[in-house]
Amino acid sequence: MAFTLGMDFFNNATYSSFADAMLPHTRNTYWHEFDEISKYNVSLNYFEKLWAAWYAYMGNDVLATGIMSFVMHETVYFGRSLPWIIIDQIPAFNKYKIQNHKIPSAKEQWDCAMLVLLSHFTVELPQIWGFHPMAQYFGLSTTVPFPSLLTMAYQIAIFFVFEDTWHYWMHRAMHWGPLYKYIHKIHHQYSAPFGLAAEYASPIEVMVLGLGTVSGPILWCAITKDLHILTMYVWIVLRLFQAIDAHSGYEFPWSLHHFLPFWAGADHHDTHHEKFIGNYSSSFRWWDYCLDTESGPEAAKRRRDKKLAKAKKAQ
Ligand SMILES: [Zn+2]
Ligand SMILES: [Zn+2]
Repeated sequence: MAFTLGMDFFNNATYSSFADAMLPHTRNTYWHEFDEISKYNVSLNYFEKLWAAWYAYMGNDVLATGIMSFVMHETVYFGRSLPWIIIDQIPAFNKYKIQNHKIPSAKEQWDCAMLVLLSHFTVELPQIWGFHPMAQYFGLSTTVPFPSLLTMAYQIAIFFVFEDTWHYWMHRAMHWGPLYKYIHKIHHQYSAPFGLAAEYASPIEVMVLGLGTVSGPILWCAITKDLHILTMYVWIVLRLFQAIDAHSGYEFPWSLHHFLPFWAGADHHDTHHEKFIGNYSSSFRWWDYCLDTESGPEAAKRRRDKKLAKAKKAQ
């Protein structure tokens, strides 16, 4: 059984007993909501019940999503960056560091974390908060049961392709003189990036590139009327993993791009930070490959060979 959460649901579920109705100012606890939902919706799985209880407990979808999204974003961002900070301190991993003479200092990591936090609270928080009402306007679903894994997987794949395209063009534009000087230069402060530096950028850049992550799902929702907010959460988590790992500075024999050759990964983005030019994409390699903006010695050699072959032909 599917039901819509929010004020109506909150009213029905919360004031379920006479005593509650007589005392509308008494707020039920989260676990009371959970028990109520469990009683009447036996077909839901445990996670779905937890989810429904949260929205019922909050009684305000926008607030419920806003808080959950922001807490999730912070937990994932710093939680995912932490292993990279630890790995930086373990000498055995040094051989996997792409620019292995540049290990970030504790001060560098601290300064970086502070600016990132500031931008999370000032720029990303409003963006995260604004997502729910906007998507809801286009028919975003917050109901249980959740969509199938297959639905989530193909929608997230589409969001990845959309974001990568957006990122390629916006990032490439930001390397144009004035935009670089006033906006993108901040992100390039670290020529050897590290996990925490993924969102170290000007507020304008965070906003513009963040739009690539958020507007894909909103557009999708507007066109198909088929988007569940859980799909959005999973997408954000995967996108954060992608961005942080791409900045980690580590290339392993088991890195994803060895198995998926079109996946960008740290190998791709680290070169961008080192050379300041080329490799503008975020997740995939195809835009840089097709438009000949690949960076690094291999790409330079390919370009040189091509030029030589052309010159030979002309003779
Ligand atoms: Zn750049
Ligand atoms: Zn970067």
